[in-house]
Amino acid sequence: MDYLPIFVDIKNKPCLIVGGGAVAARKADLFIKSGAEVTVISPDLKTEMKRHLSLGDIAWHPHPFSEAEMQALGQENRPHYVISATDEETVNQAVYAYCQREGIPVNVADQTEYCDFILPAIVDRSPVTIAVSTGGRSPILARLMKARLEALIPSGFGRLAGVLGRYRKTVKTAISGTEQRKAFWETLLQSAFVDKAVQGRIVEAERILQTQIDQVSKTGQALPTGEVYLIGAGPGDPDLMTFKGLRLLQQADVILYDRLVAPEIVEMARREAERIYVGKKDKEHTLAQGDISQLMVDLAKQGKRVARLKGGDPYIFGRGAEEAELLVENDIPFEVVPGITAAAGCSAYAGFPLTHREFSQSVSLITGHQKEGESEVDYGRLAESGDTMVFYMGVKNAAKIQAGLLAHGMSESLPAAIIEKGTTPEQRTLITTLGELTETIKRQKVKPPALLVVGEVIKVRERLVK
Ligand code: SAH
Repeated sequence: MDYLPIFVDIKNKPCLIVGGGAVAARKADLFIKSGAEVTVISPDLKTEMKRHLSLGDIAWHPHPFSEAEMQALGQENRPHYVISATDEETVNQAVYAYCQREGIPVNVADQTEYCDFILPAIVDRSPVTIAVSTGGRSPILARLMKARLEALIPSGFGRLAGVLGRYRKTVKTAISGTEQRKAFWETLLQSAFVDKAVQGRIVEAERILQTQIDQVSKTGQALPTGEVYLIGAGPGDPDLMTFKGLRLLQQADVILYDRLVAPEIVEMARREAERIYVGKKDKEHTLAQGDISQLMVDLAKQGKRVARLKGGDPYIFGRGAEEAELLVENDIPFEVVPGITAAAGCSAYAGFPLTHREFSQSVSLITGHQKEGESEVDYGRLAESGDTMVFYMGVKNAAKIQAGLLAHGMSESLPAAIIEKGTTPEQRTLITTLGELTETIKRQKVKPPALLVVGEVIKVRERLVK
């Protein structure tokens, strides 16, 4: 190791920054966040540093750096750490020389050879802090690693550490055996408790924690609690899944997925996770909806963490709520992770918005495929609304949709778009009109999954796609 990574307590301790520019302000920010008393020596301050000053976070000495200026700080303000971040080599050198003589640890920004300490790239989930260093060799590499970690670790991770800290004593009292306590924490930290705590749903988190304490103190054994994640996997492009979706997917023991979920996403699960296809193949259903829900319940009851991947968003024509209902009935903890729905994904990738100040102030998401006994689409209301209309599962019933809208006075020339396999490398975008909709689908042999969009807003595409 080139450096010893240590975390230093600088609360209420004087620390000094020489320089008033953007780099100096960023360093000052770290000192401030760590609770130091920050003094800045610089003849002038740039915007970011002025902000620190106006917030009362720094004391400013509006002079150039000099030994006399340092003497003027007084013994009680003698800095514990000094960072020099000026554009002037001679000033940086003078700061360095002074600190060496006085025995004060110093860091000259971007010059490793003049540093007693270096500042790592930081992932801040206080009180959890991750520091990444390349020993000063490549700050950019450190920043890239930081970016990866940022994506991996949920933003509310600090809350989790907070709850754990509060319960440490209680758990120690309730579970006296060291091994049992270890098993308790390991089980807890792989359960729904984590996500509840991370989201700040503290009451629910504490309930899970308490149940597990009772379980271990009664039986001496930790019991893995199964749970289900209903994850929106986005419309096709695997990069459109959320960070949260990915994180939960990667902690699942079993993955249930269907036809609309990109294979690349299923691949992102842990290697040892079991994968079960529950989609529809041609016309024959592999598993009926009720069976899928039941399967999730059964797996969770075995203590498994189940990721149910759904195309787009689970709660938009995804029957996610039906699955969730059975989970509630069976007291199985679950999370719903929203996804980018086909309407949002396909329109963006096809090059037009769904609303626009000139063309449309509202959007309707409509199913083009009603189950028997379900109420018909209200074409009259749609025709009056001025909504951009997005029909899911509408290809088969395109003729009916077209006739319904025309019958209620919508114009044949109203723009329409058909987006097949949206957001995937095979995406096809067909721009047509309401009058030509069915004909275009037939002529171009449109295959599912495809989305039909009808509305003036499609005209914006001419301005956005060259
Ligand atoms: N829950 C999903 C919708 C499921 S219904 C979501 O939020 O997107 C299935 C219908 O969604 C398909 O018939 C099709 O109309 C639409 N769809 C889903 N993915 C699509 C894609 N990549 N391209 C075009 N349409 C898509």
